[in-house]
Amino acid sequence: MADQQIFRGTAVSSGIARGVAYVLTFADRAAVPCRSIEPSEVEGEIARLETALVKAERDLLALSKEVAARVGTDEAEVFAAQALVARDHVFLGQVVGIVREHRVNVEAALAEVVEKFTRTFDQIPDPYLRERAADVRDVGRRVLAALTQHDGFDPTEIPDGSILVVDELLPSAAALLDIGRVRAFVSDRGGKFSHTSILARSMRMPAVTSLTDVTLAIKTGDELIVDGVSGVVFVNPDEIVQREYTRLEAELRGYRADLQKVVDLPSVTLDGTAVALLANASKLSDTEAACLYNADGIGLYRTEFGFSVRTTFPSEEDQFEILERAAARVHPRKIVLRLLDIGGDKELSYMPLPPSRNPSLGQRGVRLLLRHPEILLAQLRAFLRVSAQHPVSILLPVVGGLDEVREVRAVIGRAMGQLTAEGRAFNPRVEVGAMIEVPSAAVLATALTREVDFLSLGTNDLVQYVLAADRENETVAEQYRPHHPAVLHLIHSVATAARQASCPLTICGEMAGAPEYTELLVGLGLRAFSVAPGEMLEVNNAIRQVTLSEASALAAEVLGFGSVAEVEAALERRRPARPAAAAAAESTSTTPKPVAGAPPLT
Ligand code: PEP
Ligand code: MG
Repeated sequence: MADQQIFRGTAVSSGIARGVAYVLTFADRAAVPCRSIEPSEVEGEIARLETALVKAERDLLALSKEVAARVGTDEAEVFAAQALVARDHVFLGQVVGIVREHRVNVEAALAEVVEKFTRTFDQIPDPYLRERAADVRDVGRRVLAALTQHDGFDPTEIPDGSILVVDELLPSAAALLDIGRVRAFVSDRGGKFSHTSILARSMRMPAVTSLTDVTLAIKTGDELIVDGVSGVVFVNPDEIVQREYTRLEAELRGYRADLQKVVDLPSVTLDGTAVALLANASKLSDTEAACLYNADGIGLYRTEFGFSVRTTFPSEEDQFEILERAAARVHPRKIVLRLLDIGGDKELSYMPLPPSRNPSLGQRGVRLLLRHPEILLAQLRAFLRVSAQHPVSILLPVVGGLDEVREVRAVIGRAMGQLTAEGRAFNPRVEVGAMIEVPSAAVLATALTREVDFLSLGTNDLVQYVLAADRENETVAEQYRPHHPAVLHLIHSVATAARQASCPLTICGEMAGAPEYTELLVGLGLRAFSVAPGEMLEVNNAIRQVTLSEASALAAEVLGFGSVAEVEAALERRRPARPAAAAAAESTSTTPKPVAGAPPLT
């Protein structure tokens, strides 16, 4: 058996999984299967490459002709030049060399050569020549598509019981994973607050990210243990580690069984204050889980995941059908349907967005929807139709201030007018709320309360915008701190504004699902939490250990601090008890010290 290796990264979705590695890289967003091959397979692989290169060259020359006829000969040159790359003997020679020497499949070798060429181009001072890197990548992608016969991601090719090892998992690919087939995923890149990580938590799929170059170190077929509690990945674990994890798994199972007893208990503080506990959902199965855990309703239904698993825009009818089923499942409890939040790290393959150096500061959420009134109108009509039968509210993402609220309200009015004219039923008093996730909206919370029916604190984005730390960028993960004093002050001021205006406020960012923050958030004035279904029991458990007076004292103390370290020290003093095995795993030399804000243990 190969030697054990240990990698440490960021634990983004807790739980422990064992399985066999399946390595995939998403170079340029096309999935590249990587595997070792037998010596007898080498010639067959090279023949596949040659066929694919011939096809790529033929397609490029045809494309060049077509562009010459439709656009112009200068433009056509681009594709003629790309055809030369496909025929280039240095390129071919390098791919063949890697297949022969490293005994890997041709797709893996191709990805490596494209990466190498791209890096070389990137270092050329001449900007024109530097830009040619994109052509090499383009040719690489085309050859890859010819090799794999498709350029999409097909999760059914992943063997049952696999642990997916990827460079970066995009939310659209993550949404296609089947928890029965894929037990966990580990990746080179990605942070705790990315949409992929949120999705992993909602699927209860253990995941560890920010494991630089793990796709190069792990081979398809390696045995893995993924510890999504402490962020450690064991490759070909030795017997001691295997035994230790068998014991840890049994203890965590016991801990979960204990927590399960909390399921029927109300979410009230020790001194009797009720705290609403709702669930975040992205798909129908989440509503099922929310009901199992006795959620008070769905506090945030992210509609974008339903869009990202399709290849074209869902029609109003398609949207209505899915949302109606979700609302019916939680009826008579309420469901908060959020308008499509595309942009930032969430893209749709069929809706290309203008290139942006900084997509989080570009077109996203309502700003994008208001530029595409047909998409907004169809979605609002679907939401309104669901409201005819079920308690639905409409939530606006990435609101910057009152202007966007007014503009969306005008479109809601238009949708209501159309539905009335068509004789279709809807709730004319449907509630409309705004996400507070952009600092300007947090500052204007009082003004917003006058024109919306409720507010929802989206700390995932609020933290990134307040602290100027991209939620997707692991190099600034140190700066991305939900418990930064500046964030806590804003949360406190929004909670105060909402209370003074008697405007309902829910917190639905990932911070709400981390039990180490529960007491502080209650102290800051939050009385409604919306969290991933898998986090509900732990948060309920935490709520039931809070007393209002202690929570307020903690909040008052923390609001006096100006440093993250001081807040961490205060939170650490009040850290909830953890199961023995998990605590032991955290303190072994193989695991990093957890920081306040690490995900809960289930
Ligand atoms: C948030 O920003 O906190 C939020 C809930 O929205 P999302 O994570 O979908 O951007
Ligand atoms: Mg957000």
